[in-house]
Amino acid sequence: MQLTEQIMGKPRLYDNHGREINYLRLAVTDRCNLRCFYCMPEEGIEYVDKDDLMTYEEMIRLSVVLAGMGIDKVRITGGEPFVRKDMISFLEALSRIQGLQRINITTNGTLTAGMVPRLKQIGIHSVNLSLDSLDKERFFRITRRDVFDQVMQTLEELLDERMEVKVNAVVMDGKNTEDLLPLAELARHKKLGVRFIEEMPFNGSGAAPTGLPWDHRRILAFLQEHYPGLEKIPDPPFSTSQNYRIPGFEGTIGIIAAYSRTFCGSCNRLRITPQGTLKTCLYDGGVFNVRDLLRNGASDLQLRDAFAAALSHRAKDGFEAEERRLGNPVSESMSTIGG
Ligand code: SAM
Ligand code: SF4
Repeated sequence: MQLTEQIMGKPRLYDNHGREINYLRLAVTDRCNLRCFYCMPEEGIEYVDKDDLMTYEEMIRLSVVLAGMGIDKVRITGGEPFVRKDMISFLEALSRIQGLQRINITTNGTLTAGMVPRLKQIGIHSVNLSLDSLDKERFFRITRRDVFDQVMQTLEELLDERMEVKVNAVVMDGKNTEDLLPLAELARHKKLGVRFIEEMPFNGSGAAPTGLPWDHRRILAFLQEHYPGLEKIPDPPFSTSQNYRIPGFEGTIGIIAAYSRTFCGSCNRLRITPQGTLKTCLYDGGVFNVRDLLRNGASDLQLRDAFAAALSHRAKDGFEAEERRLGNPVSESMSTIGG
């Protein structure tokens, strides 16, 4: 099967299942200033050595190569992207890459208050803000840090600057289900998306929680009970969320079946971890290390071949990818992957 082709002068990249791949999630650090309990244990995780993190130059080089293969959208994530020094200069460099049409960021919003106009000026298209509770105490219990006000200030600035904003909330039994309605209410008068995410076992604790009390069906049923007018709206191409509208609301509601994995059939993503591991699925154990190739002097052609080879045996879905990990079950921290 042909994995790359040119259509109307634009390169296109496909996997072995015929899915177009045009989206890179680039985790720029595994470090974080919060300790969200679904992502990291209280004592934190063992961070990779600084020298093992990809440098900005390396990330720019591989973004250029991937943009030449058909990647036109990049999401910067982490860890917390803004704990990395000179993040703004890196974003500026990224914004100059030809072919990258959208640069998005996922952040906890604790370090970005005051920075939003600059992000807009650089051309950042949208920001996903993690916010699991609108109650300061519960926010503290979830994140283990007292930074609720900073996050709310970032949210206000994003809305003031009219940037595209999605609020991401992981739904956790016994931790924040009281927040489902207040979070949904954010979309009543604000033009933003509120997305409820199933909790996944990427908690860095070495143990996967059993069962998922709040799966996408239960989240939907709960919202329908409180908002009988909730109606399905068309999902954008490659969307991981099922999207809904509540009559009279300015914003939208989304539900992401991240653990049930109902969206793998149209997955258009590649992931690169902070130390350069390429993942063709969130649930896989990593395919090869792109940083090592770069540091061993790989040419652009060799890099392209390595990406194409990785996509030629991509798992069909997250369940197959997880099975292929054999004796290495999912339990690493999401901050080492980027979500
Ligand atoms: N630190 C940034 C943040 O929190 O937005 C970016 C990195 S964080 C790993 C990316 C996304 O992954 C966040 O929206 C976070 O809520 C989500 N996430 C982390 N651990 C998760 C888990 N175990 N289950 C579901 N989502 C998770
Ligand atoms: Fe940090 Fe984001 Fe993980 Fe929370 S979810 S601990 S903010 S990386």
